[in-house]
Amino acid sequence: MAEPTRVLLDESRIPRNWYNIVADLPVPPPPPLHPGTLQPLGPDDLAPLFPMDLISQEVSQDRFIQIPEGVLEVYRLWRPTPLIRARRLEKSLGTPARIYYKYEGGSPAGSHKPNTAVPQAYYNAKQGVRRLTTETGAGQWGSALAFACAQYGVECEIWMVRASYDQKPYRRSLMGVYGAKVHASPSPVTSAGNKILAEFPDSPGSLGIAISEAVEIAGQHDDTRYALGSVLNHVLTHQTVIGEEAIEQLAAFGETPDVIVGCTGGGSNFAGLTFPFFREKLAGRMNPTIRAVEPAACPTFTRGTYAYDFGDTAGFTPLLKMHTLGHDFVPDPIHAGGLRYHGMAPLLSHMYELGMFEAIAMGQRECFEAGVRFARTEGILPAPEPTHALAETIAEAVRCRESGEEKVILTALCGHGHFDLAAYDRYLAGEMDDFALTQERIDQALATLPKV
Ligand SMILES: *Cc1c(COP(=O)(O)O)cnc(C)c1O
Repeated sequence: MAEPTRVLLDESRIPRNWYNIVADLPVPPPPPLHPGTLQPLGPDDLAPLFPMDLISQEVSQDRFIQIPEGVLEVYRLWRPTPLIRARRLEKSLGTPARIYYKYEGGSPAGSHKPNTAVPQAYYNAKQGVRRLTTETGAGQWGSALAFACAQYGVECEIWMVRASYDQKPYRRSLMGVYGAKVHASPSPVTSAGNKILAEFPDSPGSLGIAISEAVEIAGQHDDTRYALGSVLNHVLTHQTVIGEEAIEQLAAFGETPDVIVGCTGGGSNFAGLTFPFFREKLAGRMNPTIRAVEPAACPTFTRGTYAYDFGDTAGFTPLLKMHTLGHDFVPDPIHAGGLRYHGMAPLLSHMYELGMFEAIAMGQRECFEAGVRFARTEGILPAPEPTHALAETIAEAVRCRESGEEKVILTALCGHGHFDLAAYDRYLAGEMDDFALTQERIDQALATLPKV
């Protein structure tokens, strides 16, 4: 029989637990702080924003958290996802490396985001919450939450970053089909939005601004809670179904990874793939090099600072100790909208400080070049975000060609790019810019970090 190209698991192999890496870290991560008192946050401080089950997951020290049957029922629509060997890409590169990608684009919303949107909607519905608010950058998180809310009969109201709202009308349409209400952010329906519009009527928006708007509305209504698509511990934990499945699938190929690469916006798909592998690495069962790839236009790990900062622009959220470019930083409108966030997951930021993984930044033209090569060889059109991971995967495979090393490279293909064809058109027409980010702009945004 020919060697396998895809390992598909039976639906009985969907993981029964999410993995909480906090239980295994050598040093505990610094706590979030109350923005008024600067004291560590208590569960009650978060109650206006999140249901109790998610708050306990946010602060949990348990290694494993059982996935409820009501969530598994919806996961079965698309999980387990395939792990595919990129044989045609390998061949086109002439590399001795073996490249594997875990493909999350087959979910209903087309990305990894439903892995957390579904449990978030489930726990809110369980607590009797009537409506969820959220922000969305490229529209991937918004469509995932809109889909998840429809599963459990929860209303969904979404603030979509203006730049994407204009560039990606079909993501907006998809949210509408799932039954959600969508505003362009900054919007005139919140005080945070109005404040920005008064100063910058043409603001392209940012995730930080959109979060302020969604949090503001949730905070004002008893029957409304807020949902975040990345960054927080419980979100990263929900995503670990990706890595748990990948461990089993790679073993079925008879492989252990030498290099694992993922793109990072807020860090959830990267954490979702890598956390279970970190567990194996910490236990001495494998020793992969793990590498995050971020956009050069929003280089949170590589040029940001590690400090307490707000998660949003208006300063409504708790203070999170994280790698940040400053909550006032508005990234240039690159096409990977999901990577345009000023901060990074506190858990990943902490692990980066501990030296547990590497990070690099890449310009968008090089990433789209990788995306086109991938589409022409493997057939799947990647979302602009994971083209960052693919560009580094290709660079690593080319280094293997030069050194003759037969490395096993594993990468997260966290979404498809079917709604991003306008961006691919621009790339193919030679009209895509790489934005240069000056140190002055970073310094300016960092000057307004809260004093802690
Ligand atoms: C949202 C999104 C990202 C960025 O978010 P992370 O939390 O860093 O994963 C990356 N890729 C896709 C396809 C997304 O939808």
